[in-house]
Amino acid sequence: MIVNKFGGASVKDADAIRVLADIVAKYEDNTIVVVSAMGKTTNKLEQIVRLKMENNDSYNDVLTSLMNEHQQTLDELFSSNSNAIFRIVINLFSQINKQLSEYTGSDYDYLYDQVVSIGEILSTRIVSAYLSEAGIRNRWIDIRKYLQTDSFYREAKVANEVSKNNIRKTFAFNDENIFVTQGFIGADQAGNTTTLGREGSDYTAALLANMLDAKKVILWKDVDGIFNADPKLFEEVRIFRELSYHEAIELSFYGAKIIHPKTIKPVQNKNIPLYVKNFNNPETDGSVIYSVDNFKSAFPVFIIKNEQILISVTPKDYSFVVEKHISHFFTVLNQQKVKVNLMQNSAVSFSVCCDKLHPNKLEELLSDLRNSFRVLYNENLELITIRHYNEIAIAKMLNGRKVLMEQRSRNTVQFVVS
Ligand code: ASP
Ligand code: MG
Repeated sequence: MIVNKFGGASVKDADAIRVLADIVAKYEDNTIVVVSAMGKTTNKLEQIVRLKMENNDSYNDVLTSLMNEHQQTLDELFSSNSNAIFRIVINLFSQINKQLSEYTGSDYDYLYDQVVSIGEILSTRIVSAYLSEAGIRNRWIDIRKYLQTDSFYREAKVANEVSKNNIRKTFAFNDENIFVTQGFIGADQAGNTTTLGREGSDYTAALLANMLDAKKVILWKDVDGIFNADPKLFEEVRIFRELSYHEAIELSFYGAKIIHPKTIKPVQNKNIPLYVKNFNNPETDGSVIYSVDNFKSAFPVFIIKNEQILISVTPKDYSFVVEKHISHFFTVLNQQKVKVNLMQNSAVSFSVCCDKLHPNKLEELLSDLRNSFRVLYNENLELITIRHYNEIAIAKMLNGRKVLMEQRSRNTVQFVVS
């Protein structure tokens, strides 16, 4: 059995979905097709939830335009609008509308998960219906019934044992060869929908592969494979034909966008090879991640994270930064779900570089911190990571930029720059 995961770009419109069907039709193995929300749907649903929480009714306009996009894809894909999928899609949009208009609480993360998750329900419903229309027998599965998580909305953690039992029973391949299901979403014990973190569909694909002992996982993307730098940002890039699990974990940890950081462990634990292939170019090899002994990269790898902030705290009583302060600092960061990308301490201060926060969250965080610390704060920074670095690579990247923080280890150097 193999797991084929298609990202948002590979289901962005009717043409893309036809290509997906061609790819799926070629596989003779049993397969699970994991599909992301179409195109930029997740971003738009995020925007809708944000507007709703700001009591801005213009969320309706964004929702209408999103519905029109989905409608247009249906019109192009299906010969007759008597196909049940038309009703299903309308009902799903009514469901989003209902969730939004009836919600009176203030839990952004909860509402986010209830609404944003529907992007994947829509895309998987459409893909499944289209495969059927194209004569490719398949079964659609609502993964929320089987993938159980805790209730940490927007970053939910999967309950492995229960989920594994459910998943093994559900994806049994007795009468079916092809299942179509969602990545990125699950449900807590109470049945509320949860999400696993942005770009989490890769992670779901890897989890399913682990639970079902898949032969391989293929992540279909809009690039030829894994490069030593983002081909959208760099002119000269080199492709990795193969990569060790360990190196892949390092790269995604430092922010390489090609793979979600949680994706590697589940496949590594079962020694399942993970392929990254170009969906527009299915015949090319792509990259494969598997167990490579003593992997050594022949060239430096560049990873850039934008929209970083740097927060430095000094205890108000001018005491040294000791465990007590550090632990308090991290408790506050954790409460605000802040993702720390780099940290450093000196005798009297402690600094963290992290992803930009929503302005409200940032205000809350800074005011929490100001109760115990003097706080310095910079924004609009970049975090540059170079793996397998050399001095030429460093000079090329820094090129006159101001370095606010630097950290070197044997294989990796990182700079926070403005
Ligand atoms: N649709 C979700 C996102 O864009 C999950 C995914 O695509 O992996 O974050
Ligand atoms: Mg996506």
